[in-house]
Amino acid sequence: MTENGSARVLDGNAAAGLLQQLFVFDIATAQIQCGACGSTAAVGSLHLYAAPMGAVLRCTHCDSILMTAVHTPHGCWLEMTGARYLRS
Ligand SMILES: [Zn+2]
Repeated sequence: MTENGSARVLDGNAAAGLLQQLFVFDIATAQIQCGACGSTAAVGSLHLYAAPMGAVLRCTHCDSILMTAVHTPHGCWLEMTGARYLRS
């Protein structure tokens, strides 16, 4: 643990409890906001472009890519750079 100004800096293990709350929810009903157009929708309502290794989910308003999920021999990967937030 180190001090950074007035905020304490810990490692990511200290956020495990909070992150577990965020990642245990019904993903289909979670709300996602598009970073391109600002629209918000349930993940289950997005347009899915399925591929053999995974899925690309696009905004129903502007067609921007919001989520890409891929399963590889090295693990599962989730990329969400097109989304502003995901809310359970
Ligand atoms: Zn959009």
